[in-house]
Order: sequence, then C-alpha cells, then structure tokens
Amino acid sequence: KPALSEDFQRLMGWADDVRRMRVRTNADTPGDARAARDFGAEGIGLCRTEHMFFDGGRIHTMRRMILAETEEGRREALDQLLPMQRADFEELFAIMHGLPVTIRLLDPPLHEFLPKTAGEVEDVAQGLGMDTDALRHRLDALYEFNPMLGHRGCRLAISYPEIAEMQARAIFEAAVAAARMTGEPVVPEILVPLVSLRAELDYVKARIEAVARAVMDESGMELDYLVGSMIELPRAALRAHEIAETAAFFSLGTNDLTQTTFGLSRDDAPGFLGNYQKKGIIERDPFISLDFDGVGELLKLAAERGRTTKPDLPIGICGEHGGDPVSINFCEGLGLDYVSCSPFRVPTARLAAAQATIRHTTES
Ligand code: PEP
Ligand code: MG
Repeated sequence: KPALSEDFQRLMGWADDVRRMRVRTNADTPGDARAARDFGAEGIGLCRTEHMFFDGGRIHTMRRMILAETEEGRREALDQLLPMQRADFEELFAIMHGLPVTIRLLDPPLHEFLPKTAGEVEDVAQGLGMDTDALRHRLDALYEFNPMLGHRGCRLAISYPEIAEMQARAIFEAAVAAARMTGEPVVPEILVPLVSLRAELDYVKARIEAVARAVMDESGMELDYLVGSMIELPRAALRAHEIAETAAFFSLGTNDLTQTTFGLSRDDAPGFLGNYQKKGIIERDPFISLDFDGVGELLKLAAERGRTTKPDLPIGICGEHGGDPVSINFCEGLGLDYVSCSPFRVPTARLAAAQATIRHTTES
C-alpha cells in the first residue's frame, strides 16, 4: 500500500476541487486496482482481459481453446475458464465498489498465446496431448504475417462468438454476485475492441444482450449495463456518428490509433523514432505524447461526430496518452469525460487534469 503523506493528500485535494475530467485507471489485477484506488482513481477505465490468461494453468486452457478446431472444443475449454473469469471480475467489482468498471472483451493478437519455437511446439503438443504434426498444421492455419492488424479484437468475437459470450456471462454473473453481496447495483461497462464498422459492434452487442437476458432470467435480478466501443482505428473515428448509434460510450485507444494513423508498428517503432527525434524530424515520440495534428485531429473528429449522434455520449481515453500531462491538456480541449491511465500515473493525471481545467478556463 503506498504511504501517502498528508501534504500529498492536500495537494491532490486541491487538484480534485478544480479538475473537470475524471481520472480512472487501467487495471486488470486486484493489486493494480487497489493501488490505483489508493492513488485516487475514480474507477477502472480499461480492464484488458487478455492479461488475465497468461499465467499458470490458464494459458494452457486458453491455448487449448484457440487451437480447438470445433466450436464444441472451444466451448469445453471456455467452460473451464468461466469460473475463473467470474472470480476475476467479482474481485475487481469489490475493490472498485461504488465506482465504474469498464471491462474490455478479449483483444490479443492470437500469436501471443501460441508457441513459437520448435521446443515450445513440442512442449505444448505434449501438454495438450496433441500430435506434434497436427499442432503444427493448426498453427499454420492460424498463422498471420501481421497479427496486430489481424485476427484480434471484435474480429475474434465475430469468428468465435462463444468467447465473447463466456466473458459477458462472467461479467454479468459477477455483477449479480457483487450486487447481492453489497446490496447495491453494479452497472458493468463492457468495451468492444478494434471496431471499425458499426455492424461489427451491432453483432457483438446483440450477443452480449442475449447473455445479459439469460443471466437476468436465471438470477431473477434485473441488471443495467453499458456496451461501448473502442475508437482506435481511423475508420472508427471517421464513422463515429454511426458507431455512436450503437455505442453507449467511447473509449479512445490512442496506442492503436497512433500505430494505424502513422502506419507505424507500436512494437517495433521505438528504435528509429529516437533517431527521428535526434534528427529533428519529430519533437516527441507519438506513442508517448499525443500527435495533436494527426491522431489528435482524428480524436477531435470522433468526439464531435459521436456527439452529433448522442450529445451526452460519455468519452474517455485509455491509451498510454491518458497519463501524459501534455496529452491530458489536449483531452480537456476535446471535452472528454475522463482519462484512464496506469495506477502509478493516477496522481500525475489528477494534477494534470486540474492544470488543464485552469488553462482552458483562463484561456477561453
Ligand atoms: C489502445 O490501443 O490505445 C488501447 C488502450 O488498447 P491496447 O493498448 O490494449 O491495444
Ligand atoms: Mg488497442
């Protein structure tokens, strides 16, 4: 638990009295959620559920699910993952009690879960009781040259709706359990990743609604919930007015939006971007500090167009830029409702949001 001095608390209190934007956190573990709450986070703005499947036995079951060739095979693995996911969300709801929690459906580039080297392939084949050649064959079928631009986000939920359904069920069952425990309603916010077409969101939302109905009937408890869209691809920003017809909120994913606007790999870029900075071609690394003229312009379009459809559409930012003071100032100008950043940046974001409010009120 961070030891926060009285002076620190007083300073933060002043910032909180002034700032307009809310500050949430990106958290997918109980430890991060607790630390963020202690630092003053006002909810979870992004829970990246893919991070919940990397450890111990879970990656094994996850692999089995991805490698299954039939829906039945996937469902069998998903049935094992369901109680774990439900427990994950129950814990996050309990820690964030009284505050909003936004949970994003699975968004991994699939290769992150799959074995790479020959040795790993052998190990995984053995672990899954699969023939090594059969596994290689399946891996070939799943292979992508550009996984970050491939079968991830809502595209996965459309190919394999049972994954999104398992996660939606875990979320709603956890919300029922948390509401029973505390006597207060929990309103989950479900976020659909990598949307570029409104029809993608329509499809996934319909699946979520069907699961919500089923859980409400089974539990005898009515639930409120929101289904929102990540805006992290240029097409989504351009068609934000259509996407807002289906979405209850937007979350701006500036990591992927920077990658796709520049056509620059977020995983490979740092090497030569440093050189660009040295040679004066760019001033700041656009993955750290928002590129106002390009990516920022798309965010502005997205906010304006989304709010043409729904004037009160809640909009937050959950990319890395949500914890960067210069970018936070830009977000204030866009009229965003909240920024979401990693737990240890929450105090900085609270201060930066207050400074941004002051700057924008004194300038206008
Ligand atoms: C983003 O793309 O900005 C985002 C928040 O999602 P992720 O970093 O998980 O792709
Ligand atoms: Mg993203």
